[in-house]
Amino acid sequence: MTEPGTPASRGQRASEALFERAQAVTPGGVNSPVRAFRAVGGTPRFVTSARGPYLRDADGNEYVDLIGSWGPMILGHAHPEVVAAVTAAVSAGTSYGTPTRPEVELAEEIVDRTPIDQVRFVSSGTEATMSSIRLARGVTGRAKLVKFAGCYHGHVDALLASAGSGVATFGLPDTPGVTGAQASDTLVVPYNDRAAVSTVFERYGDQIAAIITEAAPGNMGAVPPEEGFNAFLAQTAHQHGALFISDEVMTGFRVTRSGWHGIDGVVPDLVTFGKVMGGGFPAAAFGGKASYMERLSPSGPVYQAGTLAGNPVATTAGLTTLRLATSEVYAHLDRTAATIAGIVSEALSKEGVPHLPQFAGNLFSIFFVDPAEVPRVRDFDDARTQAQHRFRAFFHAMLDGGVHLPPSAFEVWFVSAAHDEEAVERIARAVPAAARTAAAAQPDGEAG
Ligand SMILES: *Cc1c(COP(=O)(O)O)cnc(C)c1O
Repeated sequence: MTEPGTPASRGQRASEALFERAQAVTPGGVNSPVRAFRAVGGTPRFVTSARGPYLRDADGNEYVDLIGSWGPMILGHAHPEVVAAVTAAVSAGTSYGTPTRPEVELAEEIVDRTPIDQVRFVSSGTEATMSSIRLARGVTGRAKLVKFAGCYHGHVDALLASAGSGVATFGLPDTPGVTGAQASDTLVVPYNDRAAVSTVFERYGDQIAAIITEAAPGNMGAVPPEEGFNAFLAQTAHQHGALFISDEVMTGFRVTRSGWHGIDGVVPDLVTFGKVMGGGFPAAAFGGKASYMERLSPSGPVYQAGTLAGNPVATTAGLTTLRLATSEVYAHLDRTAATIAGIVSEALSKEGVPHLPQFAGNLFSIFFVDPAEVPRVRDFDDARTQAQHRFRAFFHAMLDGGVHLPPSAFEVWFVSAAHDEEAVERIARAVPAAARTAAAAQPDGEAG
């Protein structure tokens, strides 16, 4: 969009001014916590426009975007065909509160790509997981849930639970506002830990409605399931009359044309989607076997609803995006992710910065762990051994160099079909200085 020169050289005064105004009228100045830069310090950049792989901020700086709106922007920003389809949809009226054609077509597209029979649209990933656990509880008549430490499923009360001190203890509220009762129906176990899963099912198996897991966790960085882990979860759940819920909000339609299912082939009882399927608009879904989905109102007794669910503009954006997400797109994402991870890893190695690149399909993280101590990040405790001061230094040097990484060491990096050679080249130019900065970073002055 602009001449490559000195990226981010226009300063940040406009972003600072907006952030100050935002903080006066919005808690922390943001509408979702990770945007506030609390984990890395500094001022979040207020973005005014985006095109292809680039973001432009209020000061006129341009960045290669590796956030991709936290997943949705699989085609890059402002894809002309998506913009045209959305513009036409907006012109035809933005919401009717009646059934529409794009809902049917998007549902058909999703059913065609995935192992589910039926799907119900909602407006956010949080609603999708919330509704899926209500359905699982309605189907089984049981209350308890099993989830994994480090897996994020949106801000659903029952899923904002932390592990207690023992492996098979009941969850504790992870935040004020979640009651002990809401958290205590949730059993929290370490990820990739079969023994811990078996233990909770042995103890509480006849009370467990469902086990919910990220199909391949991306919310503690990229921590793929070990070989056979999801199949083991499905089997264990079924042995005890519980449902297996696969949360594909992040992985769905991103890591393959279906999602993580396209990698391990495990057929869940219920699945949740979001992010990519909304094409940058608020749209999400949950789906599964018809025998379970038919239990939802109005065909069944389990109540669930939404004023803007299946909104025609959002479903048009999602449908157009999915139709353009071809096998070539997925091959490009895989290649580009590998290339970028390789460039970053090589530069960090050159400066002697301990790190570990890890992939979940084309989602990837550069963990700032010491591979001598943690040869593989298997769970949240492993991810927490990261030298966060090094990530912070690396993040800011990359930002100064014109590359916008996710502002937390516990996030995956997202690429798009629009990340071309030029975008990769810009990343390669920013990395050496960032690696040197990371090497020199001191653990003092932890910003928390
Ligand atoms: C983003 C995410 C959610 C929550 O989706 P929202 O649209 O932010 O509510 C749920 N599960 C996973 C795996 C996610 O990555």
